[in-house]
Amino acid sequence: LFISFEGIDGSGKSTQARLLADALRALGHKVLLTREPGGSTGAEEIRRLVLEGEADRWSPETEILLFTAARRDHLEKTIRPALARGEIVITDRFADSTRMYQGIRRGDGADLRAMVDDLHARMIGVEPDLTLLIDIDAATGHSRAVSRAGAEQRFEDMGPALQARMREGFLALAQAEPRFAVIDGARAPAQVAADVLATAQAAL
Ligand code: C5P
Repeated sequence: LFISFEGIDGSGKSTQARLLADALRALGHKVLLTREPGGSTGAEEIRRLVLEGEADRWSPETEILLFTAARRDHLEKTIRPALARGEIVITDRFADSTRMYQGIRRGDGADLRAMVDDLHARMIGVEPDLTLLIDIDAATGHSRAVSRAGAEQRFEDMGPALQARMREGFLALAQAEPRFAVIDGARAPAQVAADVLATAQAAL
């Protein structure tokens, strides 16, 4: 079973991915918890190239190529081997993040989104069995994200207006794709986690 978590910055998806991995392990499942951008040695190197560089170092198109290259390595080296061993794979972000972040955030949309989808079809070709969208309003997500300092500040400092567009984009994707479950992320972490676990168990 291949599960992804998606959501805007500050949605709490990383916390929820970890809690789900813990809960499934406690139930006796073998679980691989991973993340994007990153999740393999090569992809983590690409993560640093993209997230720690200057904001305008890469063009939007080059950034799409880098994220897709990272995903390909992640898939080859980490995700596919774990699935072949029969493990449950939980990833904090997958291709939907690139559809939103590189497709919406950078540039004005349609052409870049088509490029993301085209590259995905050629180079990745798989979607998760279940995608948990941790949904939160943009203002809350933004205030949580900016209170978190670090090397990735350039990406976290997106502003509530952009976060709101991203949220709408994720919700539209969730409506269009049956693999999505939308989870209300505005509640206490334990409540969100209970909802997440029930949804994942229904997919087992
Ligand atoms: O999920 P995480 O916080 O680790 O992501 C790191 C940063 O990379 C986030 O701030 C996010 O905005 C950015 N990102 C991106 N494009 C992606 C995935 C993440 O710009 N495809």
